[in-house]
Amino acid sequence: MTVNGQFPGVLRRPVPELEPYSAGFWAPAPARRINLQTCSACGAVQHPPLPVCAACGSGQLGFVDHSGDGTAYSFVVCERTFNAAFEAEGRYVLASIALDEVPDVRIFSNIVGCDPDSVRIGARVRVRHDPLDSPDGPLSVPVFEPAEDA
Ligand SMILES: [Zn+2]
Repeated sequence: MTVNGQFPGVLRRPVPELEPYSAGFWAPAPARRINLQTCSACGAVQHPPLPVCAACGSGQLGFVDHSGDGTAYSFVVCERTFNAAFEAEGRYVLASIALDEVPDVRIFSNIVGCDPDSVRIGARVRVRHDPLDSPDGPLSVPVFEPAEDA
């Protein structure tokens, strides 16, 4: 028996609950790109994914990959986790990322691959995709890492 796709006694990272309108965000994207929900009626890009376009109300939504280069708009360093599956990772950075191509869209994610104390607002970052197995198949978790040359 599983609970939310998890087997009792086995620590696994939580997996996103996929909805028809959000699954495209978690699908693997090309390197350094990120899948964002885009309205084919008005061209608006929105995140998080919604069943309809927040700008025009259209349901004609799809996913288009955009550059995963951006800046740390805001962040916090988390000193503890509330999920045992993440305990081995220690302190971590939860950040709001402003993407270069769509700066009005903010992505909440982690900044990884660096000392959490080195992160600064305005720091250049680039997306990286961490694979995650799920009951629905392989997913891709977009996280961000420092990018001095982005
Ligand atoms: Zn629209």
